[in-house]
Amino acid sequence: MKRLELRALAEEELTEVAIGLGLKRFRAGQLFQWVQGKAVQTWDEMKNIPAQERLQLAESLNFHPLERVREQRSQDGTRKYLFRLHDGETIECVLMDYERRHARDRRTVCVSTQVGCAVGCAFCATGLGGFRRNLSVGEIVGQVLDIVCHLRREDPEFNITNVVFMGMGEPLLNYDNLLQAIALLNHPKGQNIGMRRMTISTSGVAPKIRDLARANPQVGLAVSLHAASDELRDALVPMNRRYPLKELLGACREYSELTSRRITFEVALTEDTATRAHAEELAALLKGQLGHVNLIPVNPVAEAGIKRPLKSELKTFAELLEGNGITVTVREERGTDIDAACGQLRRQWEGES
Ligand code: SF4
Repeated sequence: MKRLELRALAEEELTEVAIGLGLKRFRAGQLFQWVQGKAVQTWDEMKNIPAQERLQLAESLNFHPLERVREQRSQDGTRKYLFRLHDGETIECVLMDYERRHARDRRTVCVSTQVGCAVGCAFCATGLGGFRRNLSVGEIVGQVLDIVCHLRREDPEFNITNVVFMGMGEPLLNYDNLLQAIALLNHPKGQNIGMRRMTISTSGVAPKIRDLARANPQVGLAVSLHAASDELRDALVPMNRRYPLKELLGACREYSELTSRRITFEVALTEDTATRAHAEELAALLKGQLGHVNLIPVNPVAEAGIKRPLKSELKTFAELLEGNGITVTVREERGTDIDAACGQLRRQWEGES
């Protein structure tokens, strides 16, 4: 029989396991709290569960904390982690720790959902390495749990307030595992992270955006738009060849109608795309859509020949959108002194090993 993954199980599922092993029902609640709430990494730490019962549970359940193989710290408080999974694959995860700066109560983790990525966006180092596999529920949740465990050794009160599914991989291509992971992270006896404090970022998997609209888990949605014409978007975000702008925007409209939630449209600007014509095209495309635009000056990726726009070009682009009634934010640059662009740390590490 296939062993279940400890970190993927809800309390009700743990209850079934406990009863199946002849243990008391309340052990499941204790187990859930140790794993999802206290974020322990070993069976031995679960002190209120007798050693014999821990042994029985360990024989029935897989418990694979992630191995932290590399950590980079930025001067701005950002920490980037490279985790090794039990099968030797590696993933990246970023903690954006705002404590040192303006928002003292906000600690956001950028979580990966796949090993590698099949989408192949032009400015992304993850896409360059291709797709390996989906992450399991326990591996998605585990990124948050292992960061919590690691940092509680420095500060016992440490917790994570926000999660963005914006790391390696296309989250909506691992839809079922993603939604299960979100439910676990939201659980009051777990990390208790509010639904509205979690955001899914997609390259534009239109049918899954419609599914998400119907499921309406109250999480935020960010769409990596990046271009206002199919011609340009086909080149930057190859997902567009499957779900062109008309289909994507149709799904976004349905999402807004069903959920009444604003979508964040991410637009990464390079020196080639930060133009007046592009801004005007984008304003026309998003007219009447509930949402706002988040402009991102790209992190340069040397292998892909991508260059960042000038600050003045970025400012003009934002002003043109605002002039057309579109709300605009500019993403704060974080971790520029470390390899913070998605996939760069993993590629560097794989190149060395
Ligand atoms: S940006 Fe996201 S969707 Fe695009 S290749 Fe990178 S990981 Fe995949």
